[in-house]
Amino acid sequence: MRQIDHFMPAASPAPTRKHQIWNPSTGEIQAEVALGDAALLEKAIATAKEVQPAWAATNPQKRARVMFRFKELIEANMQSLAELLASEHGKVVDDAKGDVQRGLEVIEFACGIPQVMKGEYTHGAGPGIDVYSMRQPLGIGAGITPFNFPAMIPMWMFGMAIAAGNAFILKPSERDPSVPVRLAELFVEAGAPEGLLQVVHGDKEMVDAILDHPDIPAISFVGSSDIANYIYHRGAERGKRVQAFGGAKNHGIVMPDADLDQVVNDLTGAAFGSAGERCMALPVVVPVGEDTADRLREKLIPAINALRIGVSNDPDAHYGPVVTPEHKARIEQWITTAEEEGSEIVIDGRGFSLQGHEKGFFVGPTLIDRVTTQMSSYQEEIFGPVLQIVRAHEFEDAVRLPSEHQYGNGVAIFTRNGQAAREFAARVNVGMVGINVPIPVPVSYHSFGGWKRSGFGDIDQYGTEGLAFWTKNKKVTQRWPDGGGDGSNAFIIPTMG
Ligand code: NAD
Repeated sequence: MRQIDHFMPAASPAPTRKHQIWNPSTGEIQAEVALGDAALLEKAIATAKEVQPAWAATNPQKRARVMFRFKELIEANMQSLAELLASEHGKVVDDAKGDVQRGLEVIEFACGIPQVMKGEYTHGAGPGIDVYSMRQPLGIGAGITPFNFPAMIPMWMFGMAIAAGNAFILKPSERDPSVPVRLAELFVEAGAPEGLLQVVHGDKEMVDAILDHPDIPAISFVGSSDIANYIYHRGAERGKRVQAFGGAKNHGIVMPDADLDQVVNDLTGAAFGSAGERCMALPVVVPVGEDTADRLREKLIPAINALRIGVSNDPDAHYGPVVTPEHKARIEQWITTAEEEGSEIVIDGRGFSLQGHEKGFFVGPTLIDRVTTQMSSYQEEIFGPVLQIVRAHEFEDAVRLPSEHQYGNGVAIFTRNGQAAREFAARVNVGMVGINVPIPVPVSYHSFGGWKRSGFGDIDQYGTEGLAFWTKNKKVTQRWPDGGGDGSNAFIIPTMG
């Protein structure tokens, strides 16, 4: 059986525990990953401490060159990375390429580190006095990532952290750990010093070791909300800088004037793509007005029935299996709960079986109508190929529903009315808004982050926010008196008159 080990130069001690990696398309175990502990982390930290100072002292242009070569290597290895990713995650290969691509875009941004790391400067803040600021790395950053974007999310984190001069310890999801390891190998091939980016595998034991280690000053986490909340509080209690992004339940508001064909096309991709295992998926659609709801439902049914489910390397499949048998059972249980709560199962994906791949973890596309806000199946994240319709009466409901939901990651409004869209974007209590854009993940030179239980901490991922997270801002006030001796250059801070 293929063994997946930690990626670190220091010899790893014999692993005491292992985690089995599924192939979700076939339902077979295809590999095992070693699970690390506090002793292993200690070794990784010792290595990181050795290499980080020289990396931080490397001029930013040289650091950028390594990022640039890394970008080229990812591009050259796109196909194999996507296939490896798809085989462990279950998403189809094209979708897996998107996963790699969105991470790559953050690496592209990180290639501009000399530009974005320039500080601010004021000449003559007082007589002979200049003030400037410089962004300095924190030392060792750590990232703890979820299963659903095993390429993109690690790159969001280590791309910015390392370009800024930090060493990085990545603890990827134990469910699909191969691509993070492959990325770390490519990073060394790109010219990064060994030990600058290390990958340690593990579960709660390793996460707790990271949270408690005094030599890790900053932690970025993406995963489910209860764990995000735990990470945020435990890390913050130990004086660390923590950003922790959690679950989601994104709403798509459909105004009566929307182009429904476009909406249906967008929704089938945004609700069912990647089997709905995206934190920016659109699992809730809110048509405004009964007539809009009826027209939308009529168009959605044939579009959903036309979706093709296949194994992850089927080039014609719209989506593949979900990640584990437990997750398949959980999604099916949510459909049952929705039914018991009184909603209408219009298309039922439970019990779906793919011919020739009966052991794979497939869930058929599911459409549920007449969902209300009191239902737990509405309030909680399902994270599967399930689209719920919540019928709204008017525009005010459309603003209120996503605003009052416990999650606040993304939201989209579909309309031809610019004024309504503008007002919606300004008023809705959600972190990322799409206007006729179903999955509004901001480009790499903006930044990413949800609100409420979708994001704990106050600094977003990537872009200049990412740089702020992974650096400290030092402010320097310097005085070079002209030596005239008449007292005009007397030390006069803080008034600087
Ligand atoms: P998860 O919370 O189960 O796991 C995330 C990470 O936490 C993994 O590395 C895992 O090993 C670790 N972990 C798991 N249990 C832990 C525990 N008890 N203590 C400490 N660490 C623990 O999440 P997942 O199932 O891998 O990913 C799916 C979730 O992530 C969904 O809720 C999804 O919405 C969310 N997500 C959010 C975003 C975002 O940007 N907001 C992006 C992607 C995914």
